[in-house]
Amino acid sequence: MNLEKIMNDLEKKHPGEVEYLQAVREVLESIEDVVNQNPQIEAKGIIDRIVEPDRVLMFKVPWVDDHGKVHVNLGYRVQFNNAIGPYKGGLRFHPSVNLSILKFLGFEQIFKNSLTTLPMGGAKGGSDFDPKGKSDAEIMRFCQSFMLELWRLIGPETDVPAGDIGVGGKEIGYMYGMYKKLTMEHVGVLTGKGINWGGSLIRPEATGFGAVYFAQEMLATRGQNFKDKVVAVSGFGNVAWGAITKLNQLGAKVVTISGPDGYIYDPDGISGDKIEYLLELRASNQDIVKPYALEFPGAQFVPGKRPWEVKVDVAMPCATQNELNKEDAEKLVANGCICVAEGANMPSTPEAIEVFKHAKILFAPGKAANAGGVATSGLEMTQNSMKLSWSREEVDARLHEIMRNIHNSCVKYGTQEDGYIDYVKGANVAGFLKVANAMMDQGVL
Ligand code: NDP
Repeated sequence: MNLEKIMNDLEKKHPGEVEYLQAVREVLESIEDVVNQNPQIEAKGIIDRIVEPDRVLMFKVPWVDDHGKVHVNLGYRVQFNNAIGPYKGGLRFHPSVNLSILKFLGFEQIFKNSLTTLPMGGAKGGSDFDPKGKSDAEIMRFCQSFMLELWRLIGPETDVPAGDIGVGGKEIGYMYGMYKKLTMEHVGVLTGKGINWGGSLIRPEATGFGAVYFAQEMLATRGQNFKDKVVAVSGFGNVAWGAITKLNQLGAKVVTISGPDGYIYDPDGISGDKIEYLLELRASNQDIVKPYALEFPGAQFVPGKRPWEVKVDVAMPCATQNELNKEDAEKLVANGCICVAEGANMPSTPEAIEVFKHAKILFAPGKAANAGGVATSGLEMTQNSMKLSWSREEVDARLHEIMRNIHNSCVKYGTQEDGYIDYVKGANVAGFLKVANAMMDQGVL
């Protein structure tokens, strides 16, 4: 495989799509050996086919605000690959959303979904709409308008979107309502649904829980566990909340959360009532980071900085892509951090990952560590098709088992000669092989 030629061609075809090109390079670098050992992969054009999405839908989303003013946002759905199952991946509503970001997320999703062992292809979508500061009625009108276009492209056996940044249970509800109205069908076309109308228990917390289960497995490879570990978490969204909840249950102390304008350092630990307080702020669509420091005087708001300068044992970036760079990684390592598990998608830059690998600390990429969210979405799809609801314990046990299996796959494909586990390589190779084999079986499409 001529990696540089592939990347040069892609850069020419998709100039400026920085995040997408970054994600493709990371995967190709780590599967290069496997591709070179299996000439069939090249002969069948698997690499050329897997790096381009099957299709991209881009559409306008007009909506009216509470003052009668008309706004127009852009909507997207990137259907990347359905070799092993229906397209599956979240919808992101955030002003930074563009085609490059959705293509990077959709591409990553192929391998993540493959790792879960469930039959799900890769996709992603969303809009540059900013739900922050919008009223409920405005969010509803936006979601309805978004679904007025998207419904044509999705279906329970075709493409099953879910939530992501800016899309939680409320937005899923409004979009599901519109889909139902248009098709007259009550089916499992979206995951992350409300528990009374087809949702699964544990889904809201699954990504965070799964990331902690994965990190637990990583720590166990070095004879360690979470008891009394000090942990830095970034963000305080859906993923961070789930992770912090589970970390507290396992006896760890979480000392940071963050937002785009800075981070909170709370040496006493973020747990119990403090989490309830944060959830209330979040539900009312308010800024959460600054008010936290005012409410809990032991805590400190550090403006304009990221939490990676705090001395911790474990770091879990759970906010957004490229939020942990080389300097941050160097600070974490210098402060004795032994494990970094990504709750977010691609939060660490390639240079940061190099620092972790060089220091031989435990590092898990998002596509392995945060796969618990989509895995539980897969379990929601199964419950929908069977018209059954599993108990909280049953879903949690399945999630835990899936995370253990993903960890085992990473160990199988990522263990180096000196015993160091390269989780990036392990996850990419394991995720890729299954999809590549399915594509080879199904012919050139
Ligand atoms: P949410 O919208 O619930 O939360 C995102 C959090 O990140 C918020 O606390 C937000 O702060 C913060 N944030 C956003 N941008 C920045 C920034 N530039 N710097 C610092 N903090 C920032 O999203 P999720 O928790 O659902 O998603 C978080 C990450 O996890 C994303 O990378 C997503 O793709 C990934 N992921 C999510 C899954 C899921 O099941 N939800 C599944 C797998 C991965 P504020 O609200 O103040 O803007």
